[in-house]
Amino acid sequence: KNNTTDINVTTLASILEKNKHYHKEGTVADYIPELGKVDPTAISFAIVNSDGKLISVGDRNHKFTMQSVSKIIALMLAVMENGEETVFEKIGYYGTDRPFNHFANLETMGKPLNPMMNAGAILTTSMISGKEDEPFVKILEMIRYITNNPSITYSQAVYQSEKETGHRNRGMFYLMKNTGAITGSEDQLDNYFRQCSIELTAEDLAKIGYFFANECSRYDGDKKYKNNALAKLILSQMLVAGMYEFSGEYARTVGLPSKSGVGGGIVVSVPHGMGIGVFSPALDSHGNSLAGYHMILDLAKKYDLSIF
Ligand code: GLU
Repeated sequence: KNNTTDINVTTLASILEKNKHYHKEGTVADYIPELGKVDPTAISFAIVNSDGKLISVGDRNHKFTMQSVSKIIALMLAVMENGEETVFEKIGYYGTDRPFNHFANLETMGKPLNPMMNAGAILTTSMISGKEDEPFVKILEMIRYITNNPSITYSQAVYQSEKETGHRNRGMFYLMKNTGAITGSEDQLDNYFRQCSIELTAEDLAKIGYFFANECSRYDGDKKYKNNALAKLILSQMLVAGMYEFSGEYARTVGLPSKSGVGGGIVVSVPHGMGIGVFSPALDSHGNSLAGYHMILDLAKKYDLSIF
């Protein structure tokens, strides 16, 4: 393994420069109308080094909605409250070769494929206790804690847009109500839409990556939620299903637990090492940030970061 402590601003800046053109080959997600309005040229690249040091380049203050990256936090809270066994009685632990919004075996087996696809994530969020928006507030507070950034909040406009157009997600929600997996009201689905609309930066993502890479300890050394078993569970799920149907190929080329969102962010954890956060909103056909993927790939190759 190459020494990663010498990664500096120059390293990240040269990788960003080399790959920023990829935004021209991708497409900004527009199936949620509000998402289609983002600036396709915005790009940022951040790491929290193994010693907890934050390094970032590009549009480092640019905020974007975390979308599916929120699924790892919902999974974390669902497992903390209900235990691993209870959660995985209701949700599968399968890898994925299906798009994020696929119904997969929801109808035939009554079980979502995994907690990284929409159906599974809607279910994990519904397993977090509390009335109305309390489960969402728990997710938001956990993200604020992990990033040590109390200013993080969610976009009302994106939330409304998701709520108005999220018919497939609503369909999944009602199928799971039909099987009894979900018993609550549509407030629970609203919490899922809200968590997807949480806005943060690539720096915040790098801190989240660091947290799960390091047994749920925060980048500044705070160990309030330290839990090795939980971190391993989340990382394994990121590895098998975090990049939608591209997860298998991503494991071969990058080989690191990662989770992407259709807002253009990707969070990466190098187990017992650094956290990486990238952002560029133009996506490939699977819904992963194209420039983001290439920046991660270059860094992973240069420093031989793959876990394999
Ligand atoms: N809010 C998005 C949806 O449910 C999240 C999808 C994603 O980032 O993969 O459609």
